[in-house]
Amino acid sequence: MYCLGVESTAHTFGASVVNDRGDILSDARDVHVSAPGTGIHPREAAEHHSEVAARVVSNSLGKAGIRASKLAGVAVALGPGLGPCLRVGATVARSVASYFQIPLIPVNHAIGHIEIGILTTGAKDPLVVLVSGGHTAIAAFSGGRWRIFGETEDITIGNLYDMFAREIELPSPAGPEIEKLTQESTIFLPLPYVVKGNDVSYSGLLTAALAKLRSGAKLQDVCYSMQEVACSMLAEAVERSLAYTGKREILLTGGVAANRTLRTKLEEVGKLHDAVCHTVASPYTGDCGAQIAWTGMLALKAGSDFPSTDGRVRPRWRLEDVDITWRNGSS
Ligand code: AMP
Ligand code: MG
Repeated sequence: MYCLGVESTAHTFGASVVNDRGDILSDARDVHVSAPGTGIHPREAAEHHSEVAARVVSNSLGKAGIRASKLAGVAVALGPGLGPCLRVGATVARSVASYFQIPLIPVNHAIGHIEIGILTTGAKDPLVVLVSGGHTAIAAFSGGRWRIFGETEDITIGNLYDMFAREIELPSPAGPEIEKLTQESTIFLPLPYVVKGNDVSYSGLLTAALAKLRSGAKLQDVCYSMQEVACSMLAEAVERSLAYTGKREILLTGGVAANRTLRTKLEEVGKLHDAVCHTVASPYTGDCGAQIAWTGMLALKAGSDFPSTDGRVRPRWRLEDVDITWRNGSS
């Protein structure tokens, strides 16, 4: 059984084919990079997605060696994300599903990050740390849903990197470029560290880091210090959630999971609490069709019902509102 997955929530248009054993047969994508010094512009990103959609979907089917008529379903990320971008993916997926008369499977993008993390690491019952452009959340599975134990009160950790990058005229997303700059310093400048219970807040850190830069501090020192504070804050919130839930595994997933400092700090937290720290496999840290295709396949295998009218985009769809029909138990 094969499922096509379509991702278009933000900067990436992706398409992937998976089979029911969890083999990722293809993962094609094209990323919209905004002009230096600017953030992602929803309409421009949507125009990019419309331009590349046909090529990316056909590359994905070609690489997998699967004819569209052999698909058992088409999964699409309907949210959360940017409305204009989501509508491109929804239109493409709906067209394929209606032409071939197969189910259109709505997928929550954040659940996709969790499921691709579980697929590629073999994690069983992890405390999930979802870190991306759209999310900074700590979640655990209980009673049929992923429950949020902690999250950001304002901007995400991905936003922190990207908004800082805008000020120094780097194109967004710029996490990897900022991480490179952090490696050129070990000088720590004090910056605001804000943890409230299991929640973090990054907007004051961003403002203070930019103020340091404007007052003449060296760019590499500011990047290093901002990263140290941001990752330590999250590690503290994760440690508290781990102690509370008693989980024996951490799963780090989402685009910022590529960050070495964050990985190291969460591994240290894991060691202190006898928990293994898994990180999603590297090609699947950032947004991709595979996370959508595999989550769609899980829903298909669970035999969920997919009304053909359920193709509305849901820009603010929260992960804890999704019934997970394919995962048993709670702990
Ligand atoms: P996603 O939304 O899951 O595609 O993740 C994209 C986000 O991850 C963007 O905000 C990137 O700047 C960020 N990101 C990617 N690589 C890194 C990295 N090595 N360090 C920090 N942030 C990163
Ligand atoms: Mg994402």
